[in-house]
Amino acid sequence: MLTANRVCAGDQTGQEGQDKQDSGSMTNQKACDTGDHSAVILSADLHQEMCNLAAMQWPEECCGLLVASKQTPNRIRRVVAARNVADDPLRTFEIDPQTLIDTYRLARQSGDEVVGCFHSHPNGSVLPSTTDRGRADVDGFLWLIIATDNSGVLDSRMYRAHHQKPTNGQDGDVIRYFRRCVLTDGNPS
Ligand SMILES: [Zn+2]
Repeated sequence: MLTANRVCAGDQTGQEGQDKQDSGSMTNQKACDTGDHSAVILSADLHQEMCNLAAMQWPEECCGLLVASKQTPNRIRRVVAARNVADDPLRTFEIDPQTLIDTYRLARQSGDEVVGCFHSHPNGSVLPSTTDRGRADVDGFLWLIIATDNSGVLDSRMYRAHHQKPTNGQDGDVIRYFRRCVLTDGNPS
């Protein structure tokens, strides 16, 4: 049997903190400098739903999207599980593009917005990987990471991706980093 470390060796090199990334792929940039963005309300039921999925999907990574009302973007209203269509789902994730299209469309129609994503780390690490940071191209986007191993769910944490422009005033690399959010149990809507 594969050990958890071998299973996800490609997705465990990252650490919390700052890292320079190419800004070329930055899309949908959104201001994130007003209000308190540290606390996120996620009901125990929705949280459990994602944890169950993560445990079920081991040794592969599960993935999906987090949707909130536009008025209360820090309160997760629903979660949308997606098929992981990555070439190597043991090491990384890629949300089924059809689910992305459908979820963004439905959110637009119903006054909601897609505020984040979730995925699992079958190697048991609850920290964002270097790969995650490289893919965090939406400033302010939430990232729930669920650590799993063959025994089930070990831990989970919510992070928010932050983009910081270079202080020298020049265009160029945007510094990307994840900041951990406080998770609060609460009603989804
Ligand atoms: Zn990851």
